[in-house]
Amino acid sequence: MGLRIDWARATDECVTHLRELIRIPSVNPPTLRDGAAGRDPAGGESAAARYCAEVLSGAGIHAEVLETEAGRGSCFARLPATIDTPEPPLILLSHLDVVPVDAEAWSRDPFGGELVDGVVWGRGAVDMKDMVAMELSVLLALRRSGAELRRDVIFAAVADEEAGGRAGAQHWVDARPDLFASDAGPAAAALNEVGGYSIELNRHRYYTIQVAEKGIVWTRLRATGTPGHGSMPHNDNAAEKLAHAVSRIASAQRPARVTPLVRDFLAALGLGEVAELAERTPNAAASALERLVDDPVLRRSFDAMLRDTVTPTVLQAGSKVNVIPGRATAELDVRTLPGTDPAELLASLQHIAGDLATVDAVMSMPPVEASAQAEIVELMRVALLAADPDATPLPMMITPGTDAKALARLGIPTYGFAPLRLGADVPFLALFHGHDERIPVSALEFGLPVLFEVVHRFVSAPA
Ligand SMILES: [Zn+2]
Repeated sequence: MGLRIDWARATDECVTHLRELIRIPSVNPPTLRDGAAGRDPAGGESAAARYCAEVLSGAGIHAEVLETEAGRGSCFARLPATIDTPEPPLILLSHLDVVPVDAEAWSRDPFGGELVDGVVWGRGAVDMKDMVAMELSVLLALRRSGAELRRDVIFAAVADEEAGGRAGAQHWVDARPDLFASDAGPAAAALNEVGGYSIELNRHRYYTIQVAEKGIVWTRLRATGTPGHGSMPHNDNAAEKLAHAVSRIASAQRPARVTPLVRDFLAALGLGEVAELAERTPNAAASALERLVDDPVLRRSFDAMLRDTVTPTVLQAGSKVNVIPGRATAELDVRTLPGTDPAELLASLQHIAGDLATVDAVMSMPPVEASAQAEIVELMRVALLAADPDATPLPMMITPGTDAKALARLGIPTYGFAPLRLGADVPFLALFHGHDERIPVSALEFGLPVLFEVVHRFVSAPA
């Protein structure tokens, strides 16, 4: 690339930023107290945003902290294009909030940012203060390189991703679309969390390039019945009706539908058999998956790529042991494949629930899918192969949702690309929102130059 960058120093700096960010408990919802050390996370997102802004301002990059309300801050910064007629910007997107912890269940202080035997521990180590730190470091390296830029590079580290983004990306996309654009138009692409990590399967290493994510349809079941005294049971008990409805829905597995992206992804992993069988003989597909993939978390993630999923998560009924409740509600976390009609899916859930409960969507966001043939995806492939020639980079779809959904409303394609080379001993997907969240420094050491290479190639102007 012709640039001399001291990657050892850059990695050290990146690790320092990660540890500092972990020490700011930017827990969402911000009203939850962190029991671990009696610290109060209220305002944590703004504190984390200010940290980023100070680091960037210190390097001469214009940065600001914007809040939707006190404490709910996001950091926006911009390295402007240096040529006369620039192309649309690139966004380095991240979120600053983290989910709450059950500190008792952790082996180390979740907000200590400890570095132990080459591993950084703490809430946010993989979701996603690691990528915040990497994107900070990439922007700093780009600035120091003095490279001519053919696009603005926008740094957007936002609040509230973990609760849907109304105090973060969703808000700023509506209120300030200019933050995601330049005079040349809305950004050409955004790089964001989750994808980019390596998977080991049958002794081969693959890198995920996330070009799509499933849709979300959060759904509520409501059962109504006749209240009464618990000592005189009757058969119009809302709690019982809800329990039956939930159990019927949970046991009715959704049929598989293999999208072209998932078909190619599974085939490249040597799991073509699973994709072939999934729609016609689901039991055979399930046993093929069992036989071919040892890791149960990976297996679950592959299975969820094959179908819409419906997961009961919240049940509420009754308030006193001797009162038969007249109402009961359940919440279902429904995730849809590209191409699924949410109305049809809800109608089929209503059919299954019958007259036991009513089924309504309370919040929905469509799936997003960006082109796997885009220039930037090719740059990711090339950069990954240059850094790890024996591995195979693969476009894929993730099953959770990210702030990509907000940027999609501006027509900006968002790619999950936080490149990390992980050993088979790192239970990466299980660490998202899990106990003992942590990341090996070696993964960042690998990923930082790869991320820089992609960004540099996409934004630099020929000298
Ligand atoms: Zn996240």
